[in-house]
Amino acid sequence: MDERAESSRARRKRMGDFLQRNSTQVQIFVKSGNKFLWTARSFISSSVQEGKLTQDKGSAYFKEILHVILFCGQINNPIITPEEILTEEEIRQLSKKYRDVFQKCATHLPTHPPYTVLLDVVSSISSSRKAEEVLGCLLGLTNEMDVTNDEGGKCENIFVSTVISCCYLDSSANTNYFGASVSCRGRKQKQIMIDILCCHTWHKDISWAVCVGNTYNKKAFGFPVGVRSMAFNIYSPAKATIQKEKIKSVWDRLQHCLMTRSYEISKALEQYGTLVPKAPCMKCFTMFPDIYFDPHSQDHCNGQWEYGNCAECESLSQLLYSNQQIVKLLDRETFQLTPKMLLKVKCDRLECNLRELGFRLLNKILYYNDQE
Ligand SMILES: [Zn+2]
Repeated sequence: MDERAESSRARRKRMGDFLQRNSTQVQIFVKSGNKFLWTARSFISSSVQEGKLTQDKGSAYFKEILHVILFCGQINNPIITPEEILTEEEIRQLSKKYRDVFQKCATHLPTHPPYTVLLDVVSSISSSRKAEEVLGCLLGLTNEMDVTNDEGGKCENIFVSTVISCCYLDSSANTNYFGASVSCRGRKQKQIMIDILCCHTWHKDISWAVCVGNTYNKKAFGFPVGVRSMAFNIYSPAKATIQKEKIKSVWDRLQHCLMTRSYEISKALEQYGTLVPKAPCMKCFTMFPDIYFDPHSQDHCNGQWEYGNCAECESLSQLLYSNQQIVKLLDRETFQLTPKMLLKVKCDRLECNLRELGFRLLNKILYYNDQE
C-alpha cells in the first residue's frame, strides 16, 4: 500500500473512532451485515441438509457473502472492521473455517453485491426457475432481515436491494433469469460496485451498453424480438409500513391497466410479502428500447442513479451468458470511442475510488470468488 493510502486509511479510522463510531448509520450497517450473514447462513445450511445444494457449493456461497459484507465494511467511511460486524465468538467460529475470507476482505474485490449472491443461491436451488417460486422464496428471506434502530423501531436492512428483475425469451417463458439492483450505501461505494460489475462480472455486451449509456446516452445495440423483462419493487415489512401510501397508490394505478404477468405474479405472492410491479426507468428504456417491458409505462420515470444501477442489467447479463444465439443476433451500433476505451474509464474510476477510500490495492486488481 502506498504511503498516501496508508495515511488516509489511518486518518479515516482515527476520525471514525472518535466521531462516527457510534453514529446511527454505523449501527445500522453493523446490524444489517450481521443479520444478513446469519439469515443467509441458516438458509444455505438448511438447503444443504435438504439435499438441494452440495456442501461445497453451499460453503462457497456463504464465503462469498461473508467476503462481500466484510469488504463493504472496509470501503465504508468510517471503516467498519470484522470485529464490529461480528461478535468475538462468531469470529472465532468463522475464522477457523474461513480464514482466507478475513484476510482477503481487505485486499480482494467481490464480484457481486450481497443480495445478488443470495438471489443466485435461491434461483440455483429452485428446480423449476419459475418466477413465482424464486421470488416467493426471496421475499421470505427478505422478511427476516429487518433490523432495529436505536429507538427500537424496525428499519430495512441496508444490504437488501430495492428492485428485482426477471427476464426471459418468448420462446421459453419458463426459463427465467434474475437480477437485483445494486445494494450498497454511499455514492462512491455504489460507483465501486457498478464498476466491478462492468469491469469484471457482467457479459461484455451489457457492460458496453452501460458505458455507452453513460457516455452517449444512447443504446449500444438492439435486441432481437422476443426478449421480455419484468421488474418489481421488493419491500421488507418495515419498509412496506413506511411506504404504505406509495404502495397503495401504485396498486390503484395498476388496477386500471391491462393485467399483465408481473401483476399476476405480485398478486399470487401477496401472502408471502410485498412485491410491486415496476416500470423501467428512462435509462433502461434508452439502453434497451427493443425489450418488451412489463409493466410497460409511457411515463418512464427519470432515475437519479447512474447507468448500471438497475436490476435489469444483471438479469440481461445472465440471459446473454446462457444464450449464445441471442448474442450473435445483437444489432450493434458503432461509436467513436471503442468498447475497450469506454471500459477503461470505468476501470480507472474503480481504482481511483478504491485508493481514495484507502483500500489496500496490490499491483493489480484481484477478485475474490471461490466459485470460479
Ligand atoms: Zn432502470
